[in-house]
Amino acid sequence: TTGGNILQVRNLEAWYGESHILHGINFDVNAGEVVTLLGRNGAGKTTTLKSIMGIIGKRAGSIRFNNEEIIRATSDRIARMGIAFCPEERGIFASLDVRENLLLPPIVRAGGLSLDQIFELFPNLKERLSSQGTKLSGGEQQMLAIARILRTGASFLMLDEPTEGLAPVIIQQIGHTIARLKKEGFTILLVEQNFRFASTVADRYYVVEHGKIIDGFSNAELAANMDKLHAYLGV
Ligand code: ATP
Repeated sequence: TTGGNILQVRNLEAWYGESHILHGINFDVNAGEVVTLLGRNGAGKTTTLKSIMGIIGKRAGSIRFNNEEIIRATSDRIARMGIAFCPEERGIFASLDVRENLLLPPIVRAGGLSLDQIFELFPNLKERLSSQGTKLSGGEQQMLAIARILRTGASFLMLDEPTEGLAPVIIQQIGHTIARLKKEGFTILLVEQNFRFASTVADRYYVVEHGKIIDGFSNAELAANMDKLHAYLGV
């Protein structure tokens, strides 16, 4: 069950220095949905997430979150509104153990999960609590990266290629985790290259190409869009 419109991105443009990367991105996310951005390498998916998080220096257009304009907000303010970003490189500190990594991101809002609630979702992490970041498998690192943003009180989670480099059985676990988070009321904006995985969790898709959204459809419309999608993604 999904609620009203929670994120509205309109004519979003972004630059890295002089490089103009996003050329007018338009899409919406409704509360409680899992929405996936698809597209080839370099299309601008990660840049879109970073723009929403406010960590791209120069951006233009409009991003409304819960009806509030955030295009000029600082990343700190955006985090306090309940948006979190889980980067592709995961950002686990090698020299810290699992507990320290979990406790690192500051709590920005009420409503975050307790450690017990987190361990209920990720039982492995409880067993690995005093293991150092370097000792974790890729799957454990990804779980930890998701787990620690759940503590902060964020309700809108942006996950950048959470399945990258992981074995099929772990990818399946990540899928179950995302389904569970959706059930708990989180809204999720996902970037994925693994289309097969995306199709197991997404309610809707948008296709990014050359810094623009060129298409969008729901999971129910997926079969009818398969040929187009193969052409877009080159798979
Ligand atoms: P990928 O899966 O490869 O990350 P993507 O769709 O997420 O693909 P982006 O990471 O958003 O693509 O990159 C979009 C474009 O911006 C690419 O041409 C990339 O080379 C460029 N780019 C990304 N990061 C930077 C940066 N820090 N400085 C300059 N250019 C960048």
